[in-house]
Amino acid sequence: MAHTSKAALKAQEIHKASPVAAAAVGRLITSAALLAADFKESWRIRIDVDGNGPIGPIVAEARSNGKLRATLRTPQVSLPLRSDGKLAVGRAVGRDGLFKVTREEYDGVIYQGQVELVSGEVGQDLAQYYTLSEQIPSAVALGVLVGRDSMVQAAGGLVVQRLPGGSQYIGCITERFSQLDHISHRLVNGDTVEQLAEEVLSMGSLHWFEREPLFYQCECSRTRSMEILSSLPREEIQELIKDQGAEIVCHYCRSAYRFSVTDMEKLLDHV
Ligand SMILES: [Zn+2]
Repeated sequence: MAHTSKAALKAQEIHKASPVAAAAVGRLITSAALLAADFKESWRIRIDVDGNGPIGPIVAEARSNGKLRATLRTPQVSLPLRSDGKLAVGRAVGRDGLFKVTREEYDGVIYQGQVELVSGEVGQDLAQYYTLSEQIPSAVALGVLVGRDSMVQAAGGLVVQRLPGGSQYIGCITERFSQLDHISHRLVNGDTVEQLAEEVLSMGSLHWFEREPLFYQCECSRTRSMEILSSLPREEIQELIKDQGAEIVCHYCRSAYRFSVTDMEKLLDHV
């Protein structure tokens, strides 16, 4: 389970995302956090979603220590609400695309898995990923609540997995999750993710793993941007010098790193 309200709001602020885009990116960040909680041997988990909807590709990343970040191509996408009054995340993301997960482990091994998008609603797509790609039958509930001021008020998610040899329990939980589709409303009202889980599973008290704080944080820096520049061919660096320098803008946090002609000339000396 993951309580991601602050990270989802930060993502919306950074990307100036519309309500439906903020909900989509918030759900994807939550998915990355849930996967990171599950796969402790991975230091970085990245999810790439590329459906045929107007929002275009979205990327969310979770690193060890609860650091989350995300980027998307069309943060200003705007769509009418669904007939039930909810944000049309599924239509914004679309289908005919992949839900791709890359896990980088501490020992350098990289695992990749992917499934076809089921609905673009993200929660169902993550459940499909767990079930088909990781072979762990799972039920997933994700929620991002956007308030009247168009800003994210709450976000969170839960994954319930069947233990090896378990029964058909997951189908039953998925059904109960569908009745709990206001997960984000409940978080705003002060309920904890733990309370929601206990209600859905009706088991009274469950065992919870250690809680890790989750927050939006990028890992870009001037040094890293300099490394990107130094990997360019010499002729391109000379072109940039003619253009009076260069600016590198991070896709994840929109930080801009400016490099002057003098910086670029120094770089040329080392290339
Ligand atoms: Zn950044």
